[in-house]
Amino acid sequence: MRRPRRPRRPHSMKAALDARRAEQFRRAFEGEIASLRGLYRKASSDMMQVLADAAATPLTRARSISHLRQYNTILANLGDEAAAWMQLNLPESYKAGVAFSDGSIGDLRRAGINVRRRQRDVFTQVHREAVAAIVQEMQRTTDFALAQIGRRSKGVFRRVGIEEVAKGIAEGKTRVEVTRGIKERLLAEGKPVFKDRLGREWDLDRYSEMVARTTSREAATQGTMNRLREHGLQLAQVSAHGAADFCVYYENVVVCIEGEHPVYPPISAINGGPPFHPNCVHVLTPFVENLATDEEKAAGKIEPELLDKSPAQLQRQFRKDFPERARAEGKRVRQEAALISGRAKRRAQ
Ligand SMILES: [Zn+2]
Repeated sequence: MRRPRRPRRPHSMKAALDARRAEQFRRAFEGEIASLRGLYRKASSDMMQVLADAAATPLTRARSISHLRQYNTILANLGDEAAAWMQLNLPESYKAGVAFSDGSIGDLRRAGINVRRRQRDVFTQVHREAVAAIVQEMQRTTDFALAQIGRRSKGVFRRVGIEEVAKGIAEGKTRVEVTRGIKERLLAEGKPVFKDRLGREWDLDRYSEMVARTTSREAATQGTMNRLREHGLQLAQVSAHGAADFCVYYENVVVCIEGEHPVYPPISAINGGPPFHPNCVHVLTPFVENLATDEEKAAGKIEPELLDKSPAQLQRQFRKDFPERARAEGKRVRQEAALISGRAKRRAQ
């Protein structure tokens, strides 16, 4: 089978501009994402503190209820703070996507392309609904993770106290030993981590960071696309800045974002557009056929065998096509994982 590869691209000025814009966007939101992560980290450490306090004295029923209440209060406050973060920041990300399109549309106008003026009243509603849907989606994801932790902690306080005491009596352990057993189990089982569908454990702050980053980028892409549609632009192109992962197959690819196109596939065929994975920095820019050279048009065509492939399938393909780059990337991911688990361990001590 022919291995699909995306050749090196010619227009370096456009690539440089894309890279700069992607970097600008990343910087604009890093601070907010870090502050959200900080909230989660603080709450996680407060929850661990409650567990440590609970473990320090033998658990009575009254004490467990009180500790559980403290734990849940921290969790509920965190939920409120996260919701406020979404209400404030996701509309900003969306607007950044809109502004990004405005920049590109300005470039087109300056190049003499006749771009349709937008119909204000129709689209105000579209933008508002799009933002609301994105906020709602992130809210659902967050609620799900926090509810999972809430459910687990409820069981932990009750179960651990009863079981360890009973076990201690049966085995004739000293009170110190029983207390140590409780402490270990409380800290292990009550740890505020989120387990995803694949059974992977995430530190809450890491998880929230990933969700916030992905959602901010999704919001920006939605803003970009809706603004392009608003101006009657049908085609969009994925930015190119030398991806070190499977995104390389999508760089420069042109997709149709409105209706159908005889040449270019719908955006749904490339996983709905960027972000393609949690730390993806790719963005969409308008593509105007009349303005493109034959070379650029050819570069915008994706190999048919890469259409409708999941990120996991594409990443496998990437490992086959670019073994060295995949190894370098794998190393980075492993280092990151080691860092995360090391930090989690230190925090639990
Ligand atoms: Zn990407």
